[in-house]
Amino acid sequence: MKKTLVTLVLAGSIFFSGCSLITLETNPKTSEPEETVATVESSAETSSAETTKETEKTTETTAAETSATVSETTAAETTAPSETTVSEQPKTLGKVVVLATGGTIAGVGDAGKSAGYKPGTLTAEDLIGAIPELADVAEIEAVQVCNVNSDDITDTVWIELANKINELSKDPEIDGFVITHGTDTMEETAYFLNLTVKTDKPVVITGSMRPSTSISADGPMNLYESVCVAASRDAVGKGVLVVFSDLIFSARTVTKTSTYDVMAISARETGACGVVRDGAVYFYEQSVKRHTTDTEFDVSSISSLPKVSVVYFSVDMDPEILKYAAEHSDGIVIAGAGAGEFSEGYIEVIKDLKIPVVISSRIGDGIIIPANLLVEGTIAADNLPPQKAAVLLRLALTKTKDAGKIQDMFFEY
Ligand code: ASP
Repeated sequence: MKKTLVTLVLAGSIFFSGCSLITLETNPKTSEPEETVATVESSAETSSAETTKETEKTTETTAAETSATVSETTAAETTAPSETTVSEQPKTLGKVVVLATGGTIAGVGDAGKSAGYKPGTLTAEDLIGAIPELADVAEIEAVQVCNVNSDDITDTVWIELANKINELSKDPEIDGFVITHGTDTMEETAYFLNLTVKTDKPVVITGSMRPSTSISADGPMNLYESVCVAASRDAVGKGVLVVFSDLIFSARTVTKTSTYDVMAISARETGACGVVRDGAVYFYEQSVKRHTTDTEFDVSSISSLPKVSVVYFSVDMDPEILKYAAEHSDGIVIAGAGAGEFSEGYIEVIKDLKIPVVISSRIGDGIIIPANLLVEGTIAADNLPPQKAAVLLRLALTKTKDAGKIQDMFFEY
């Protein structure tokens, strides 16, 4: 076979096919008129951290030998010279599915401004297209799940996400998943998925604090680093992770701790479990709680979750609110003061409630154990904040209404 010399230069542009599957196309660098276009197909064998970045590598090769599929030209047709320079993607890139749900990372507003924007505006394909460097990390498939402010995420979206990941994870070609999400409720979605996805493959959630149109938007770097983690073998089996501002967090402990800071996502007293630097992934800790393949929760055949209301306590709050919440809920989470405490008025109402009541704290750090409980038969939230205690209680109620069994779940998960 006649040897062909083709120079393939990653153009940095991204073309989208009809069903959201994105392939990265390369342009020829041949000087004269031919229009060689190469579609780079990559296999799903290794992680990004293991992948050697190749740039403009000169290789003498034949069309059959190269991993790039060269279309619209043949050796005979091309006017390229008989010696060829090939810059091809490594054959070893994995495949990561990016599921977009909206949030500030997809937000658009006044140029340069950080506030007053419209979240959930850019699509999954827009987000991916803004980061040509992803071509060095993984083949990306984009899926638009919804495009909302994360305060409008619902149990329907959670169940859809879990079931989609569970279905896609059976595909051996897919190495991991990234979900783009608003930061307000990111921790709740992360914890829900941590308890309901049935795969060891990495599932990473990310977002941003600044919209795409602000100065120094943080979304592209957060998404890039998330794909690096999702493509990393080191992330396999670690449960659902959140990647934000170079740090990796476990879904169970991650929480939002600032209304504006680009480092608004943290895990308070338990800390991050790893870091990402220039695409390389470093883990130092991992969650010891049951997660993903090791949970009893199954959302494959349900379309909604039991209703749980979180009721805050503050000085002089009217305990009648508790009665109203209980009438409209299958379970209650109290965001108590200190170690889950509240007034005598709250105690009297809670004593008579006939639905499971979980006691958490409005503080944000620290644990609540059964010895702290003011009302017998209530359930201690361990160190889960109220919003995450609500996630676990909703899932627990799909299994049992027994307070003792639910208490066990709060220590296991
Ligand atoms: N309100 C936005 C959201 O949660 C905030 C963000 O994404 O940072 O969707």
